[in-house]
Amino acid sequence: MSKKKLIDDTINYLKYYREYNNYQVYAHEIVEVSEDPVFAVNEEVRVTETEVIEKKEYITPEVRIPKDVKIIAETEFMNNEWKISTTLDQFEDQIINCIKCRALAGTRKQVVFGSGNPDADVVVVGEAPGADEDIRGEPFVGRAGMLLTDILKAINFTREEIYICNILKCRPPDNRNPLPDEIVNCEPYLFKQLEMIKPKLILAVGTFAAQTLLKSKEPLGKLRGKFHSYNGIKMMVTYHPAALLRNPNWKRPTWEDVQLFRKEYDFLVKS
Ligand code: URA
Repeated sequence: MSKKKLIDDTINYLKYYREYNNYQVYAHEIVEVSEDPVFAVNEEVRVTETEVIEKKEYITPEVRIPKDVKIIAETEFMNNEWKISTTLDQFEDQIINCIKCRALAGTRKQVVFGSGNPDADVVVVGEAPGADEDIRGEPFVGRAGMLLTDILKAINFTREEIYICNILKCRPPDNRNPLPDEIVNCEPYLFKQLEMIKPKLILAVGTFAAQTLLKSKEPLGKLRGKFHSYNGIKMMVTYHPAALLRNPNWKRPTWEDVQLFRKEYDFLVKS
């Protein structure tokens, strides 16, 4: 390895660690670290209110279709028009009113289709939108998303040059895990996105993304760290950024995975 490469890798690694450790600071309640008692009190009230609103909204099991959703007959929706879309924008328009998972359609604020470059060489696939993504309509924009952005930056990718999406396009209430039926309903959308984008590489973050794309039941620890094939596209599996926020022991293997991923990208795309 050249001296310059070694230095670049070390700098990127340190940046990654610094960013990661900042998130550990975020992980503490703001009220604990604030030196300004007024700010602390306001923050506490704000957080509490948000939690109450969210609990109220997600506790009701019965389906409530959001007001601004044009209700179309299920049979009409299921006419599979989306399958013949020729652009991602057209495709997104076709499924923004999806009601295949009636419960999720009733609790979501909006469908989170995906974002980034429609001609990307790299697609990152996550699990499902969380609260921030549900509000903003974009994948990976919350705390885990910021960490993902930094991990990508550390291996010299910008969010704009790649494409990011999830297995589920709707937020599961209370951020629970996706249910098997929801995955079955939603995965055809992801498969179509991948078919349209035709990336050279896929990075699957977390167990749900990895197992869904690989049709595998293997635990993430066994799937990570090596390349797989999804319909002939090279795919790397690594830990989900939200898991890294909870378990610092996984940051080292994640760093190794994403470095391998970058090397393969350079080999496939740049050479
Ligand atoms: N976690 C995910 O898997 N996807 C998102 O979009 C946000 C958090």
